[in-house]
Amino acid sequence: MNQSIHGEGTAPEPEDRVTELIEQQTAISELLRAIANSPHDMQPIFDAILDSATRLCRADICSLRLSEESGLRRVAIRGDPLLVSQALSFPALAENGSHLSQIATSRLPTHIPDFAVVDGDLRDDFWKAVVNAGFRTSLFVPLLKDDEIVGIVTLGRKQVQPFTDRQICLFRDFAAQAAIALESTRRERQYREAQMALAHANRVATMGQFTASIVHEIKQPIATARNNAVAALRFLDRSPPDVAEVREALTCILDDNDRTNDIVDRIESLIKKAPPRKETVDLNAAILDVIALIHGELVNAGVTVATQLAGGLPYIQGDRVQLQQVMLNLIVNAIQSMNAVEDGKRELHISTVSMGPEGVGVAVRDTGQGLRPESLPRLFEPFYTTKPDGMGMGLSICLSIVEAHGGRLWATSCEPRGALFQFTILAD
Ligand code: ADP
Repeated sequence: MNQSIHGEGTAPEPEDRVTELIEQQTAISELLRAIANSPHDMQPIFDAILDSATRLCRADICSLRLSEESGLRRVAIRGDPLLVSQALSFPALAENGSHLSQIATSRLPTHIPDFAVVDGDLRDDFWKAVVNAGFRTSLFVPLLKDDEIVGIVTLGRKQVQPFTDRQICLFRDFAAQAAIALESTRRERQYREAQMALAHANRVATMGQFTASIVHEIKQPIATARNNAVAALRFLDRSPPDVAEVREALTCILDDNDRTNDIVDRIESLIKKAPPRKETVDLNAAILDVIALIHGELVNAGVTVATQLAGGLPYIQGDRVQLQQVMLNLIVNAIQSMNAVEDGKRELHISTVSMGPEGVGVAVRDTGQGLRPESLPRLFEPFYTTKPDGMGMGLSICLSIVEAHGGRLWATSCEPRGALFQFTILAD
């Protein structure tokens, strides 16, 4: 194909050069703003790249394809509505080996000033589709990160109106920065999603193992106690009642009860025995990480978060992951409680405070359905739950973690509604 990386050479006037640079800077800032404003959805970021590309190069249409294993997949397209509808008829996936993927493999911008005058043997199906769609001039710019092809941007014009050298240069620079921003954002989000999934999996796996072992250990004495109770009732029904047998059955029930208690004590001491890791933890930073981790769920639930993290908070010695587990549990509970309320603001307020000799204090307040008075004394009991699909283990695990860090955890109701959970952790 009559490809060239050169556009129409025009030496820009100094003021034009300044305008171009300002436009380029604006394009980058808009991209960064789109990244900051859209923590979950990549689409606004793709659109911001294309809007800037269209403006910078005065193109009629612009599309973005990203690399995946089997080729380059179209993820966004912007511009002249008629051209867009024509271009949408092109396959969404340009497979490896296709014309477009060959252009990307060159790693260089490819400029086609006029599709009508490309060499005859290059007039393949791709060429026909492009010409039929009404394109006359195109610029293809591969997006590279560390020399790896992450995608390709295609700019098109309806008229034969070659891109100038300046426009190509300008766009090549923008594309280089966009590729880095895009790829870093993509990777960071994939990492965050994986971490979130891991946090969930951990929670579920820990609960699962824990419950299975308790069920296994406790089922047997409970079953024996039941058999003994049935026998005691039968002995009572005799006439006259066989008091000696009833006494023996009741003694057995007491033994079974003690056995169950032993098992529970053993499990409890097992949990307490596992000493938490001791590392220096910046609690404010650890909390911000958890908020970032769970940001997706907060947004989905329409919850806004306000933080008031004390400056100069003393570092603590403890297990960062366990303390983050406490925060995660409290925040997940808060989201669930706010999800249960139809109207009103959904606000999560998280604050930290330095508490002198008592160490540091953390407060998590929500505007959810609040705590039922009858729940208050039982909240931290294992298996206490008011949720149809709840396990009732979250708060009891939080309590054992906080206590293992020499702290206290407690809950209070808020006015006009909501719950406030507070805990302290001994400072260094
Ligand atoms: P689960 O979430 O599985 O029910 P938890 O131990 O985490 O287990 O919580 C126990 C109970 O405490 C919940 O079922 C709920 O009744 C109450 N609870 C916990 N957090 C909140 C909150 N932020 N607002 C209202 N109730 C809560």
